Amino acid sequence: MAQCDVCSMPADFNNSYALTTIEVVGNKNYWSYMIDAHSFDEELLMMYVQQQAMQRTGWLICNNCSRKFTFNQESAKRYASTQTDPPGSGPADLNQVAAAAALAWKEKGGTLPSWVR
Ligand SMILES: [Zn+2]
Repeated sequence: MAQCDVCSMPADFNNSYALTTIEVVGNKNYWSYMIDAHSFDEELLMMYVQQQAMQRTGWLICNNCSRKFTFNQESAKRYASTQTDPPGSGPADLNQVAAAAALAWKEKGGTLPSWVR
């Protein structure tokens, strides 16, 4: 059984969505979820930003997690059910991903991470 790439719960290809790296990790809501789910410090968050931004393949997103993101539902569903990487999949712009993560961090802690200039 496949897993959701956000919450790690079992995900059915026919009832999930395939998103690109930037659609997921370029979204502040993803980082808000990750910060809540893990006990990140600023350095660990930066490591995750770098690691997740490099994801080459499509992201399988369960129905529940899909509400966090903005995307074309019809095509994302089709790419998931055919297990195809959506167009635009691959490594995302690191600055854009870091900005989304920094914003989520600031909302939780009141300050931007120290690695934001
Ligand atoms: Zn999920």
